Amino acid sequence: MSDLFEKIVSLSKRRGFIFQSSEIYGGLSATYDYGPLGVELKRNVSQRWWNSMVYKHQNISGLDAAILMHPDVWKASGHVDAFNDPLIDDKVSNMRYRADQLIEGHIDKLRRKGKDAEADRVYQALVDALNAEDAAKGLYDVIMAEEIRSPDSGMFDWTEVRQFNLMFDTHAGPVKSVDNKIYLRPETAQGIFVNFHNVRETGRHQVPFGIAQIGKAFRNEIVARQFIFRMREFEQMEMQYFVKPGTQMEAFEAWREERMQWHISNGIRPSKLRWHEHEKLAHYADAAFDIQYEFPIGWQEVEGIHSRTDFDLSAHQSLSGKKMEYFDPVTNEKYLPYVVETSAGLDRTILTLLCEAYREEEVDGEIRSVMKFHPKLAPITVALFPLVKKDGMPEMAEKLQNDLQEHFLAFYDEKGAIGRRYRRMDEIGTPFCVTVDGESTSDGTVTVRHRDTMEQDRIPAEKVASYMIDSIAKWKP
Ligand code: ATP
Repeated sequence: MSDLFEKIVSLSKRRGFIFQSSEIYGGLSATYDYGPLGVELKRNVSQRWWNSMVYKHQNISGLDAAILMHPDVWKASGHVDAFNDPLIDDKVSNMRYRADQLIEGHIDKLRRKGKDAEADRVYQALVDALNAEDAAKGLYDVIMAEEIRSPDSGMFDWTEVRQFNLMFDTHAGPVKSVDNKIYLRPETAQGIFVNFHNVRETGRHQVPFGIAQIGKAFRNEIVARQFIFRMREFEQMEMQYFVKPGTQMEAFEAWREERMQWHISNGIRPSKLRWHEHEKLAHYADAAFDIQYEFPIGWQEVEGIHSRTDFDLSAHQSLSGKKMEYFDPVTNEKYLPYVVETSAGLDRTILTLLCEAYREEEVDGEIRSVMKFHPKLAPITVALFPLVKKDGMPEMAEKLQNDLQEHFLAFYDEKGAIGRRYRRMDEIGTPFCVTVDGESTSDGTVTVRHRDTMEQDRIPAEKVASYMIDSIAKWKP
């Protein structure tokens, strides 16, 4: 793990953003719990996504579908037959790898060494293997031909590549049999497809329209060693946009632009974001791009924008026997809408924010760690400090906290030297600290200290809320 990544993992635990699940039992791998600050950050991110999708677009409605669904859903969607990862084991260390990622790692290594022509050749071999009838064999052949060694043992002693289904299954009711086997959903999208008519009719929507949902998804990931980047239980923020066939590319391009801007509006520097076109299109897709962020572990996907054709509605129509077609009242045509989806990971978005916000700065010969979150996403917006615990200062600071609490998450702290209180707030990314001092109780003014610049302004206490609203509107990463 890189240094920066380790610092983020450690700060996340120390300050109550993210804990390992079931830690007292040694932890459960690839599952995490959000602590008091993490849960605030997560709520702010999901609310911001919801606002940008559902509230901003009249023709998008929300949904909260169940995690457990009829098992036929996953037959129709192709997940039972084809939701597989190609795995390969290092026989020496018994470590398991995703064969395609092993090859991608090899390509990255070649590029870092400046061997671009060779990297291009292996990349082409990877694309061909992924598109081959027998992808497992194709990937195995590439690993053999390129003599790719195991990243942990350095040996070249591999098993065959095998396909492994990523869905978690369980049984509904008291009897464990094949007849009542059900799955924990591996994506939120299918809950949206099966509710296509319910939402369209009750929302009185006409195509084009969208359905948005935030919810848990579960995948039995094999390679899961990167903190909240790859989890077995995670949250997705998805929106499926139903359009008339033939107009999907226009919608696809518009959503690509809008989704990239959303990440930038969260305070992510554009230079840390890029587009990645899929090497292999899923059998249902006619275009697919990912938004990647430059994590300390390299460029990785945060969100996928996919043009899914009518694959899902058509598959559910065939298997359920229920018509999924749409009757267009303007043109009097009947058709199965095409779908453009935007599919972002909530946890991965949080990881981009943690990585992007974390800074170390030298101040008066000391290192200050500061999380420069967008002020609208920061877990705590404002901290209220009495300079000392007497002379009416605590009462005035507490009253101000109560007033601000109406609009912001406001936190009161009277413990320790004022400098240390500022540092504690910097480390968790609180954009404003308001201090009540001796002057405040006589003239009603307080100081507002800014996290990013550490500058202070003295303003009347009753103006703090509007002052904060103005500064938040002007904030730049
Ligand atoms: P990857 O290639 O990284 O496995 P994917 O292409 O399978 O991702 P999608 O099925 O397109 O991912 O899911 C949409 C989004 O859900 C991803 O962009 C990612 O942000 C998030 N996501 C997918 N799998 C996980 C996971 N195991 N842990 C956390 N987030 C995930």
